[in-house]
Amino acid sequence: MTELTARIHIADRINRLEESATIAMARKSRELVAKGIDIISLSLGEPDFNTPDFIKESAKRAIENNYTKYMAVNGYEDLREAVCNKFLRDNNLVYSTDQIVVSTGAKQSIANVVMSLIDPGDEVIVPAPYWVTYVEIIKMAGGIPVIVRAGIDSDFKITAEQFKNAITEKSRMMIFSSPCNPTGSVYSELELRELAAVLKHHEGVIVISDEIYEHINFTGKHHSLAQFPEVKEQVVTVNGVSKAFAMTGWRLGYMGAPNWIAEACTKMQGQFTSGACSITQRAAITALEADPSVTRSMRDEFLKRRDLVLERLSNIEGVKTNTPPGAFYVFPDISSYFGKSAGNHTVKNASDLSLYLLEQANVAVVTGTAFGDPDCIRISYAASEILLTEAMNRIERALNQLV
Ligand code: PLP
Repeated sequence: MTELTARIHIADRINRLEESATIAMARKSRELVAKGIDIISLSLGEPDFNTPDFIKESAKRAIENNYTKYMAVNGYEDLREAVCNKFLRDNNLVYSTDQIVVSTGAKQSIANVVMSLIDPGDEVIVPAPYWVTYVEIIKMAGGIPVIVRAGIDSDFKITAEQFKNAITEKSRMMIFSSPCNPTGSVYSELELRELAAVLKHHEGVIVISDEIYEHINFTGKHHSLAQFPEVKEQVVTVNGVSKAFAMTGWRLGYMGAPNWIAEACTKMQGQFTSGACSITQRAAITALEADPSVTRSMRDEFLKRRDLVLERLSNIEGVKTNTPPGAFYVFPDISSYFGKSAGNHTVKNASDLSLYLLEQANVAVVTGTAFGDPDCIRISYAASEILLTEAMNRIERALNQLV
């Protein structure tokens, strides 16, 4: 290494990060598409619907009305009021506007909290399967992810007992999502109550409750961990407009948090982004003030698609599924294929199986290894029924060839 290359290098904190497996899979699919191969992508985590017109209209009005200047770092006051009203209306949670921080996506909200609270060596409990980003942000902060695994037989949800056993004197945080990416699992009111009962005995532990898939929930009522008053001061509720209103590209998330955490996150965000895009913020007010029923047609459509995918998977020998009650993913256990081959492909693990499906079936899914479960793959059903049917035909054919 010359003196110059020794000086020009990537910082360790970035070298420690893994590339997102979903983004990597999307890139591989694009490469095959560029070669003229017809790939069906079931690998991405975004609704295939367009943002509703009434939200787009409010963004146009925001530009015309010159909402184009810097605003308060934690978001426009009237947006934070709209967030408070939403928390009260949908989740029975009382927050004041100074407990709300609006950010450039729920992803940034989570990063703000982790970077604000985690020192090197602090432990952060992460139930697996988990959303890939949690672990990478924890590593970026120098924290130690403590993975607590829940398998398909427990519906991919950890028990209060597992949570309790994972807590040590170094534990500072727990992060989970419900409805969950990648499994679609939803914690019931009782299960959350049991987690809260453990949490209240560990005042130094803060939980990030990631509720970004709140509106894509087929069980009826969504429940928030912060609804239990005994732990509200230990919970940060994160949500956003990406999934509910098909607004992934607009980049807006928000949190409701104890004041001291909201203040720290605002301080951090003040040096990183100065806040979310002004036009997006105006559009988000319109989205959040709308009757939540506007999200129902998307949810109903997702339910039909989930049932289609589950029905097809249940007819493939060796694929084990549960019935995910939320989000838009199924997370089948495909470990019975490990050790099998077709042509020059040998499937040793879930990553091999996803590559095999990409190359042989021309369907992109994501390996469960990326989400902390090496026995599964994630199939996103945010695609039309026609595409899903064709994808399932291809997957079935390819899996049946493995012997
Ligand atoms: N949380 C979970 C569990 C997600 O799956 C995603 C996006 O895929 C996010 C947060 C990020 O949402 P946003 O687009 O608001 O950053």
